[in-house]
Amino acid sequence: MEGAVIGNGVHTTEGKGVRVATNGSTGSVFENVKLCPPDAIFNVKNKYVADKSPNKVNLGVGAYRTEKGEPWVLPVVRTIEAQMSVDSVLNHEYLAIDGLRAFTDASSRLLLGDSSLAITQNRACGVQALSGTGAIRLGLTFLFQNNSSKTIYLSNPTWGNHNGIASAVGYTDVRQYRYYKKETKGLDFEGMIQDIKEAPEGAVFILHTCAHNPTGVDPSTSQWKEILTVIKEKNIFVLFDTAYQGFASGDPDKDVFAVREAVKMGMEFFAAQSFSKNFGLYNERTGQLCCVLKTPEVTTIVKSQLVVICRRMWSNPPNHGARIVATALNNPSLKQEWIENLTTMTSRIHSMRTELHSALRANGTPGNWDHIIKQIGMFTFTGLTNSQVEHLTNKYHIYLLKNGRINMCGLNPSNIEYVAKALKDAVTACPESC
Ligand code: PMP
Repeated sequence: MEGAVIGNGVHTTEGKGVRVATNGSTGSVFENVKLCPPDAIFNVKNKYVADKSPNKVNLGVGAYRTEKGEPWVLPVVRTIEAQMSVDSVLNHEYLAIDGLRAFTDASSRLLLGDSSLAITQNRACGVQALSGTGAIRLGLTFLFQNNSSKTIYLSNPTWGNHNGIASAVGYTDVRQYRYYKKETKGLDFEGMIQDIKEAPEGAVFILHTCAHNPTGVDPSTSQWKEILTVIKEKNIFVLFDTAYQGFASGDPDKDVFAVREAVKMGMEFFAAQSFSKNFGLYNERTGQLCCVLKTPEVTTIVKSQLVVICRRMWSNPPNHGARIVATALNNPSLKQEWIENLTTMTSRIHSMRTELHSALRANGTPGNWDHIIKQIGMFTFTGLTNSQVEHLTNKYHIYLLKNGRINMCGLNPSNIEYVAKALKDAVTACPESC
């Protein structure tokens, strides 16, 4: 069918179903839309999967792996799923727009503590969301519409998606606050405090509650107190990104020190909670936005607005993961089992930290690697340069993020020596200046 005229009047030639206009146009209304680059984190995984080398190691993915390098379904989750599979009352009806109440209540209690004043005074509410990402999107959508300041601050560096979500909801004034100090591979506490002090009144700050991604660097409890004091003085509105509760120390109460301190200080805030990592429910999209406000009346109003946003974005949330978390958290012995499962994960991560650190010292890798044992959570921000990262991937088939972040769960007894040897070679072959 040569020379056909398509919608916009352009003549085309057609071969094997592909239409190309004689003037070079495809005729598609989208022909000027630009191709997006693949997502940086997911693309590391794709490259790893495509690599045929038997030695390949994936240190990029943000998911737990067992000693054998395999994904892990938590035993407590298996137990609950087995009960659910024979439960004849469960069905596939819609949940309420704000989600499963047994889940949102239990999530708020897990975050704030059973006897939190915010809960007993009815100043806390939870709205189920599509995991942590959805909760951040929900919270920022509301804040962009209703908070007087249209400035948002993200830590430098941060989880890449924070930037994307902030601009997707409309923020154009997206700033960074100092967080990581390259020289010490630790917290730039003074820089962070100064940036908060210099921020416009009422700006929004995303703070990582624990196990900071990508650096693995968290403030100490006394530093948190100082940070929150300055935040309160400036009327900054905080969204606590809580993607790793229990993954930093193994103790879910300890990991949310900052959030509970904010309640004690009488602050209003939002917290995005994810159960992807701590329950291993990655693809079930299980999370919520927890809101702590000044009065029960404001809480009701804010929640009503959040419900409207949910209705327009995803209408109502998925059930499976929420029911698992609700069942575990609302039953003392299942909750105990969950904490034991958490310990299994955090202990393995901890032992990979000590083993990698010792292996680097034993093989004489140049540089100081103490940050591997000082940083916490799933990730180590190695401090490797771009060319060192490329060397690891090209020569050793070791995959990690360009910024040098490695997932400690990708290490196991059978690859740790190999990774340590490769690191030594990368650091030696490409000194920082190369
Ligand atoms: N925030 C941070 C800092 C994260 O690392 C992640 C997971 N990579 C999330 C939020 C959200 O994860 P999810 O949507 O899977 O719960």
